[in-house]
Amino acid sequence: MRGDRKKQSLLMGCAKFRAIIMMSRVKVLRGGLLIDGTGAKPVKNCVVIVKDSKIAEVGVEGEIKIPEGDDVKVIDVYGKTIMPGLIDTHIHVCMDGEPRGLIERTINQNCMLAAIKGVSYLRRTLESGVTTAQDGGSGFNWMEVALRDAINQGFIEGPRYFTAGYHITVTGGHGYFFPPWLGSRSGGDIIEQAAMHADGPTEWRKAARLNLWYGVDVIKLVVSRDIISPGDPTSPQATIEEIRAAVEEAHKMGKKAMAHAVGRQAVLNALEAGVDIIVHGFYIDDEIADMMVEKGVYLMPTNRYVKLIVERGEGEQPEYTVEGAKELWKDRRSNFKKYLEKGMKIVLGSDAGGVPYFRHGENAHELAVMVELGMSPSQAIVAATKLAAECIGIEDKVGTIEPGKLADILVVDGNPLEDINTLTLKKNIYLVMKEGRIIKKREDE
Ligand SMILES: [Zn+2]
Repeated sequence: MRGDRKKQSLLMGCAKFRAIIMMSRVKVLRGGLLIDGTGAKPVKNCVVIVKDSKIAEVGVEGEIKIPEGDDVKVIDVYGKTIMPGLIDTHIHVCMDGEPRGLIERTINQNCMLAAIKGVSYLRRTLESGVTTAQDGGSGFNWMEVALRDAINQGFIEGPRYFTAGYHITVTGGHGYFFPPWLGSRSGGDIIEQAAMHADGPTEWRKAARLNLWYGVDVIKLVVSRDIISPGDPTSPQATIEEIRAAVEEAHKMGKKAMAHAVGRQAVLNALEAGVDIIVHGFYIDDEIADMMVEKGVYLMPTNRYVKLIVERGEGEQPEYTVEGAKELWKDRRSNFKKYLEKGMKIVLGSDAGGVPYFRHGENAHELAVMVELGMSPSQAIVAATKLAAECIGIEDKVGTIEPGKLADILVVDGNPLEDINTLTLKKNIYLVMKEGRIIKKREDE
């Protein structure tokens, strides 16, 4: 009996070994249109050679030698586009775009259920072509950190994932939807919300340090209200001193700080306190826009959710949310193009999951809205690849199709430079590769 079991485990070991050696070390994508993520002109009939986890060579068919051998897998992608996997710098795995998610989630689930749901949201995100995602703060006992580590250790499948932990907000500020006694079912210490209350520079510093100790990759600060919470959405909340204390802690640890900011004064406070990224950034005037350009501060514009609330919110969202969304959408339609012309660094930052109606896996729809507001499809793709990688601080690893970069690659039908909506349709996704591994490949007849 014992011998049988030993034999069985040996056989299983052999099968596993065979599976490993049969996995192609070299993958060749042959014949597609290459959009490399740098904003350069697309190149026809391209060949991308991937060795293990990295891009080894990029060239044109006929000019580049296609490797041969047992461990080489050639995939023909004629008529399709090869591009870097998308990078969404702002999602929230604690929700999935439920119309009243912020409130329902807090009441109806504990941290573990939140994390388990997050597993499926992250997989859906990856399969939609987003190979890197950064969370804008999902709280719930730092479940993002657990999800990130589970992905990196190979227990679950998901995009390369960066985490923010709890948003830091003032008492009663946006992001904290219930008083602590209702927000925590675990006895007080673990907050079953997405945000932490903090007041005064000392508490903001401590909250940032706590997030960093739990292992987050970026710090998220809420410095104004929002259309989703009652009251004037442009009201600045945190003081410059509070914001600066948290930013200092992030920077000391080599991390960036992003600020949720709506309204001129809130954005100005965040800039003066040294934040690296403005989230939302509605009602930015010329002076503030110039300041952002000069300081090299990124904007995560989150345009689509505003449009979705305008289109679908009536009767389902509070009146202040719908009316607020109409105003924000008006602001974007008048000013978004101007920010681009000034050279502001605008990245794909969708808020997927965390805002009403915007579900995980729909991230590329944000690009379509960016194009609607005045970006060229080429600019939108750079915003979702090279520039987004820079915003997270991983531009040496991903974001472009170049030799030496990790092989995070998306292959889609058609040409997104002609129609950005190519990226939004699930049926168009032919192949998703993360670090040289094929995550998803459509089997065509
Ligand atoms: Zn957000």
